[in-house]
Amino acid sequence: MIAQIALDTPGLPLLDYLLPEGVIAHPGDWVVVPLGRRRVVGLVASVGTSADRSGGRGFELKAVERVCEDLPRVGQSTLDLYTFAAAYYQRTLGQVAATALPGWLKTPKVHEHGRSRPSRLRQLLSGTSVSEASEDGQTPQESPTPSLAAKSLPPLNEEQVQALEACLRESRPLLLHGVTGSGKTRVYLELLAEILARDHFAQALVLVPEIGLTPAISARIQEAFPNESLEVIHSGLSERVRATAWLRAATGRARILVGTRTAVLCPMPNCKLIVVDEEHDHSYKQQDGLRYSARDLAVWLGHRLSCPVVLGSATPSLESRAQAERGRYARQRLTLRATGAPRARTRIVDLIRDRPQHGLSEEASREIERALTRGEQALVFVNRRGWSPVLCCDACGWRQQCPDCSVPMVLHKRRSNWRLICHHCARQLPPPHACPECSSTDLQTAGQGSQRIEEALIERFPHARLARLDRDAVASPAALKDTLDRIERREVDLIVGTQMVAKGHDFAGLRLVVVADADAQLANPDFRAPEWLFATLIQVSGRAGRHDKGSDAGPSGTVLIQTRTPSHAMFVALEDGREDTLESYWGALLREREEAGMPPFGFLAAIRVSHAQADRAERGASEIFSHLLALISAGNRPVRAYAPVPRVPERLAGRTRWQVLLESSQRPALQQLLGEMAAALTAFRALEVHVEVDPLSLT
Ligand SMILES: [Zn+2]
Ligand SMILES: [Zn+2]
Repeated sequence: MIAQIALDTPGLPLLDYLLPEGVIAHPGDWVVVPLGRRRVVGLVASVGTSADRSGGRGFELKAVERVCEDLPRVGQSTLDLYTFAAAYYQRTLGQVAATALPGWLKTPKVHEHGRSRPSRLRQLLSGTSVSEASEDGQTPQESPTPSLAAKSLPPLNEEQVQALEACLRESRPLLLHGVTGSGKTRVYLELLAEILARDHFAQALVLVPEIGLTPAISARIQEAFPNESLEVIHSGLSERVRATAWLRAATGRARILVGTRTAVLCPMPNCKLIVVDEEHDHSYKQQDGLRYSARDLAVWLGHRLSCPVVLGSATPSLESRAQAERGRYARQRLTLRATGAPRARTRIVDLIRDRPQHGLSEEASREIERALTRGEQALVFVNRRGWSPVLCCDACGWRQQCPDCSVPMVLHKRRSNWRLICHHCARQLPPPHACPECSSTDLQTAGQGSQRIEEALIERFPHARLARLDRDAVASPAALKDTLDRIERREVDLIVGTQMVAKGHDFAGLRLVVVADADAQLANPDFRAPEWLFATLIQVSGRAGRHDKGSDAGPSGTVLIQTRTPSHAMFVALEDGREDTLESYWGALLREREEAGMPPFGFLAAIRVSHAQADRAERGASEIFSHLLALISAGNRPVRAYAPVPRVPERLAGRTRWQVLLESSQRPALQQLLGEMAAALTAFRALEVHVEVDPLSLT
């Protein structure tokens, strides 16, 4: 017999190995095989007889060394998920399997065992045997009947009841659109109770976008289900802890799995519910290796398993909104804040009139002063995400946009000349010497002013205790917890934070939020930037005055947004603040995308290359571009390839980076072209080439 094994080898399809006498393997088994001089763990994709596989082969096949009997066999639905992900994201099945399997379990050594000595995995999971588990859900349960510790929970309100019923009734994914504090988690808990009670083997997967959010949600779930086995998976855990959690989920022992994006790839033999919390969050898209969207795979998996999928968010993504409009997702609104706290008031600060000092306006300074005097906490929100050099007028707020695409153009230095380049259509323009609107020569790249905001705050409020909440300052989950605890204990007066603060953390003493540089995000050349900014500003506003009980408990929260374009429709909507006004701005954003043929109304893929030598990267990109044009015209495909553009930053880690963007209104046509291109790309080995399907960013 011959087994086709999926190995973590980029570009290589399945490899054939001989199954020696007495070694029995099935699709979904993990095996140890020799590869070159190494021994590696791979996944059996299929098994055939030698007669129909070995014909014409002029060399001897290597043999499978052992089947990892301590790892549960991957079931058909999970194999299907891996196969789909590999095809869709233009990777090999082996690369998907390698992403799914925790690192420690990829070491052949841990699977070794002697006659009397169990493997290290079995020792790890000692007390229970692993091999008895299968995807038919025959694993014996350790826990008694599931019980929701309902006494400690508030009763569901009418909207929550409707959401629960919709989710259990619907065959479509449910978009649970609930304002901050409306009790989405309460709905998840009730769903878990229902699903776990129906079936004694049932498992549930709960995805969150960030490691930092796992402790809070897993604690809430465990508290509600004290008798249920819950495991957490994310990349911040030690190898062994992660491997154990993975094994417990993959053998059906863990009934609830909470995790970040890789958890969606963890095999769960009896998964009956998938929750994707904060579904709009871009962290669900993996940015290196297998560049997949965990949210999109969760929806695919839910469909494959015919199990309920809930996508929860206070600010649903335009993708999910479009799916709800098309009727592919059901939608339930939660409009009542469970805490009864009123929404924070938003005020726009016009930076043309109130000139900022190092990024801080006089009005913002005064409000911070006032908050500190009252003993409240203040948050200054700085947006450093995806910063690109885009020309803006400091005097009137004008921004250089592509005349064809209405997206900001990016400043690049090309052969000692500065050029403005559109990252969508690749159009180039010379930079203007003066602002075309007001003739001011004070043109700057957006976001410059806010770089020094932390120093400005220290200078202005020397006695305030300041904490930074961003990826640089808070590198580990432990450091994050420490900072959050200090904020909670009121040992911090002023918080300077990036997008990290917008994510679900709860600050009881916070009443004032200052958004320092909204303009820098409006000047972001990515078509998703306005959506992302709007969602972030709504999320950040949700942090202010969240625990206010109304007027008698003092003033409610305040949000100040500093901008040079106060009349921008987004800021007008935020200042108005009413739910229907915000919704109609979401509608406007969706129509803009539709008119531009951008996702979710069109489909994109980027082919990205890099090389240590600048000219070789550029040449490689144009060769790939020519190749694409030839394929497109030969096949008469409804796909458009745009000329190569340098990425932002052009040079990173000693390599020059370029990309070619592909666009189509038909997903299959784009997928087909990428499939044909895959073979051609192997000729560009000298470059580091990767394909990004559904890229989040155009830069
Ligand atoms: Zn101007
Ligand atoms: Zn353009």
